[in-house]
Amino acid sequence: MQTPYYLIDKSRLLPNLQKIAWLTEHSGAKALLALKCFATWSVFDLISEYLDGTTSSSLFEVKLGRQHFPGETHAYSVAWANHEIDDVLRNSDKVIFNSIGQLSRFEEVSRGHTRGLRVNPGVSTSTFDLADPARPFSRLGEHDPAAIEAVIDQISGFMFHNNCENGDFDRFDAMLQGIEDRFGHLIAQMDWISLGGGIHFTGEGYPLDKLAARLKAFADTYGVQVYLEPGEAVITNSTTLEVSVLDTLHNGKNLAIVDSSTEAHMLDLLIYRESAKIAPNAGPEDWMICGKSCLAGDIFGEFKFPAPLAAGDRISIQDAAGYTMVKKNWFNGVQMPSIAIKELDGTERLVRAFSYDDFAAALS
Ligand SMILES: *Cc1c(COP(=O)(O)O)cnc(C)c1O
Repeated sequence: MQTPYYLIDKSRLLPNLQKIAWLTEHSGAKALLALKCFATWSVFDLISEYLDGTTSSSLFEVKLGRQHFPGETHAYSVAWANHEIDDVLRNSDKVIFNSIGQLSRFEEVSRGHTRGLRVNPGVSTSTFDLADPARPFSRLGEHDPAAIEAVIDQISGFMFHNNCENGDFDRFDAMLQGIEDRFGHLIAQMDWISLGGGIHFTGEGYPLDKLAARLKAFADTYGVQVYLEPGEAVITNSTTLEVSVLDTLHNGKNLAIVDSSTEAHMLDLLIYRESAKIAPNAGPEDWMICGKSCLAGDIFGEFKFPAPLAAGDRISIQDAAGYTMVKKNWFNGVQMPSIAIKELDGTERLVRAFSYDDFAAALS
């Protein structure tokens, strides 16, 4: 198969899915895939065997979830436009408004639909301001219990999303307690509560049993159906970006240029100033892996290899699914990676390739 391509390995996806199914079974919660993290619908057949549906950030994600993922479709967006709302309602089981303003604007048209409101508890586990829903002056949800109470008869659920790659159960537990302390009297009047995404419960060593018990106790206390909206936790470690070395140079360090680009194919590395991951990253040779765009800082990271790299060598960049495939773009006109799936029996199958025509069609 011609590089570059994203390779989704179902045998690496499956353990995550099995953990999610165990959690939902033992907690009574339902799990919805957050499409903003991962929307590669060719593997939705497998994922939908283990999860209950999808949640969204836009009308297009709502439609994708409805068309390609059996189960429930939750529709959330920071703001719906007037011309979108009919389509949103037609393609969703629940609509979650980000603000009382949006709820009021669409109150009449959405009457009869299951409606929820995003609530911002004012604390989060995010350490990066850019991705912190509880940052000062946050526009993500309503925060005032009194204001929410005034519209409570228009909604049957709340969505809280304030975890971010949180692998610490005690921290999750404490933040949920904070939510209960502040909004418990309102939660008790709801039928369903979504606790959002960002709980890293498929990670190694996470106390799934404690999480299940906590979610079950929460649901029982308030008489609500709990939803989780995992994104990263669903696909973590399942996918690689397969690239080839095109050239090598030496400028104080060993440099290898590959047929990919951070900005075009793994944009979050740049946004969050992170290094890519390569496995096993071992050996006596130190090499900087660089993208082929003309951005000077287009660098995947520095890694160890058993032997000097040369043109034609293949490299697997790890963990290339979440917030990665959904963000790929045509910067520099770099060949967009194809998408391939490694089936459970080990066979690799190309499911999508991108051409010059796709590049040209993205603009006009
Ligand atoms: C981003 C987001 C998610 C998914 O978050 P992950 O960290 O990928 O699990 C879920 N719900 C909402 C509202 C989000 O904004």
